[in-house]
Amino acid sequence: MDPYFEIDERLLALSDRAEELARPAFGRIEETQRYNQQKMLAAFSRAGVSERHLFGSTGYGYGDQGRDVLDQVYAYALGAEDALVRWNFVSGTHTLTVALFGLLRPGDKMLCVTGTPYDTIQGVIGLPGREEPGCLKEYGITYEQLELLPNGTPDYDTMEEKITPEYKLVYIQRSRGYSLRPSFSVAEIGRMAQIAKRKAPGSIVMADNCYGEFVEKREPTEAGADVIVGSLIKNPGGGIAPTGGYIAGRHDLVELCSYRLTTPGTGREIGCTLGHSRELFMGAFHAPHVAGEALKTAVFASALFSLLGFEVTPQPQEVRADIIQVVKLQNPENLIAFCRGVQKSAPVDSFVIPEPSPMPGYDSPVIMAAGAFTLGSSIELSADAPLREPYAAWMQGGLNYHSGQLGILLAAQEMGKAGLLKL
Ligand SMILES: *Cc1c(COP(=O)(O)O)cnc(C)c1O
Repeated sequence: MDPYFEIDERLLALSDRAEELARPAFGRIEETQRYNQQKMLAAFSRAGVSERHLFGSTGYGYGDQGRDVLDQVYAYALGAEDALVRWNFVSGTHTLTVALFGLLRPGDKMLCVTGTPYDTIQGVIGLPGREEPGCLKEYGITYEQLELLPNGTPDYDTMEEKITPEYKLVYIQRSRGYSLRPSFSVAEIGRMAQIAKRKAPGSIVMADNCYGEFVEKREPTEAGADVIVGSLIKNPGGGIAPTGGYIAGRHDLVELCSYRLTTPGTGREIGCTLGHSRELFMGAFHAPHVAGEALKTAVFASALFSLLGFEVTPQPQEVRADIIQVVKLQNPENLIAFCRGVQKSAPVDSFVIPEPSPMPGYDSPVIMAAGAFTLGSSIELSADAPLREPYAAWMQGGLNYHSGQLGILLAAQEMGKAGLLKL
């Protein structure tokens, strides 16, 4: 049954029950995978992707058709007028930064309507205590935020009151990031965008779409967001893009961002692709399927660990808006064993034993499991956890369900071996 990893028979029986519990969610995920894969193939076909587009340019990269066609592929697949897809975006944070600096001018006001943004963005904005050199605040761009309701959902009533034409940009974060709030569906983002458009018709609605791409059949750009931004080493790079990011949305806004990425005047016309185009096209092709595999891995983890008696969020049957799964493991021993088990399933560095260690910006030690082909890739199975209450592991990724499922089983197995589970 399991010739290679010697998984406990009782755990395998529980795994079957977890898959049974996950079946309705798997059905929905597979339907979305099928739909989005067709959407992606239609995008390739409509953009006319050809073999010559797979080769790279050097130097200034003038006239690089592969680069321009890749932009079109993502624009079509994300339901956007236009897209800027570049390996030169060094991270998701960098891509979001380029978009914010591209769209905002001194004196402009930005309003985040989904509570405190993702950690790294705080320093880009220049939140109190996080005023990094070069942040938006230094350029005279002011920031305000609306808190979420106590249950973590958007406060639509306050948005109705608070949004006025004085705000140039309304900012929405789709994913929970490393918090315990729920992630926001495309429908919910659409509702926020509609309020923004009604109360401040000239404003730009921008969504941080990290971890959300291809989780649903529509993207926020198809529900009223003007611009969405994400990282290619998460969902939209299909586990193949070695680096990069994208900005997609209204044509005029994408152009503005391109002037920030390179220079005013040259914008998207320059930027060589070296040898990266082929990987980026392949990543785009695989992305809808891989996002679904990561989702199935998350649902399986949710099902297995709820059967093992742990609190999980989202629940196995819950409709999801991103690929993140949180498992509250109750104590540091469980958390450490969990991460060590996940690490054992990695294709790269499976022999490494994760240890908690201090991290800049965190008030408690952090433990991570990651054994990825791409450094820091979180579309590959990975888990991170600060060693503090509620000793929760934030896990995400899984390039294919079979390897993802094995990672989750080995996490449980490791806890079992340490005598921490009653099977
Ligand atoms: C990952 C992520 C980012 C930033 O991406 P990095 O590549 O880590 O810089 C921003 N926002 C959210 C919600 C994310 O999940």
